Amino acid sequence: MAIQTAGVVGAGTMGNGIAQAFAVTGIPVVMVDVAQAAVDKGLAIIGKSLERLVAKGKLAEADKAAALARIKGSTRYEDLKGAQLVIEAATENAQIKREILKQVDALLAPDAIIATNTSSISITELAAVTGRADRFVGMHFFNPVPMMALVEITRGLQTSDATHDAVKALAGKLGKSPISVKNSAGFVVNRLLVPMINEAFYVLAEGVATPDDIDAGMKLGCNHPIGPLALADMIGLDVCLAIMEVLHRELGESKYRSCPLLREYVAAGRLGRKTGRGVYSYAK
Ligand code: NAD
Repeated sequence: MAIQTAGVVGAGTMGNGIAQAFAVTGIPVVMVDVAQAAVDKGLAIIGKSLERLVAKGKLAEADKAAALARIKGSTRYEDLKGAQLVIEAATENAQIKREILKQVDALLAPDAIIATNTSSISITELAAVTGRADRFVGMHFFNPVPMMALVEITRGLQTSDATHDAVKALAGKLGKSPISVKNSAGFVVNRLLVPMINEAFYVLAEGVATPDDIDAGMKLGCNHPIGPLALADMIGLDVCLAIMEVLHRELGESKYRSCPLLREYVAAGRLGRKTGRGVYSYAK
């Protein structure tokens, strides 16, 4: 099935980026959030993002207007009715997601697909609250969505081949490069990336090198565009810790134990850029 109408639940960081990707591709999209303020903020962010693309000469002014006209912001789940695919991109909380998915499942046509952008919750477990586990799949976009090429397409236990193939083709149409992943904690990217970040905190805690030298080591020695500690500040230390805890719990191995220094920073409220201080200070 080629997807021609879409919905996104959540107008936050990821939701508005995903809605923008649909709109720019020519696919009408409904973006739903709980509060009108969140919808308005999401629409404003999309507007600014499209303006930047116009300024850079990557998008024509007329295409920007056409893209914006394809996005309908709403606080009503009923407006998702008629979408062939709905991507859930709401807060990373299993209970919230289960409630959303039940409501969306009840609204959509029997052949519609539901996807989730979760970073860490089991696709199989979320699929189970819907009546369409075969038409349920993970579509894990990366932040910032308009810039990042990857989408991890994650199959739950019962995801059908047809569903997997339809969303993989869609990801390509959105200009992304999909990879196929089995349902497993952290999928591929976070399973590899976040333990590396966690290890950087151990290296820091043991006094092996300064933050600047740890980051310079990985940038200059491994060609990483950003060092692991600066990246942790960008992702959010609380998010990194939450992912380590999922890996530890789900995979059960001591190598996924979160670093006490990472836990300490989170306890102190040093969450990274979003709080003005993490490993580094971002005081204006
Ligand atoms: P966010 O906090 O920026 O946005 C979440 C939005 O969901 C908020 O606007 C909130 O109002 C809305 N929401 C909460 N409950 C809702 C409900 N019942 N109905 C409708 N909307 C509701 O979060 P985010 O960073 O955009 O993350 C969203 C999802 O994407 C999470 O599952 C997260 O794990 C995943 N993700 C995040 C990133 C990232 O770097 N931020 C990357 C990949 C995946």
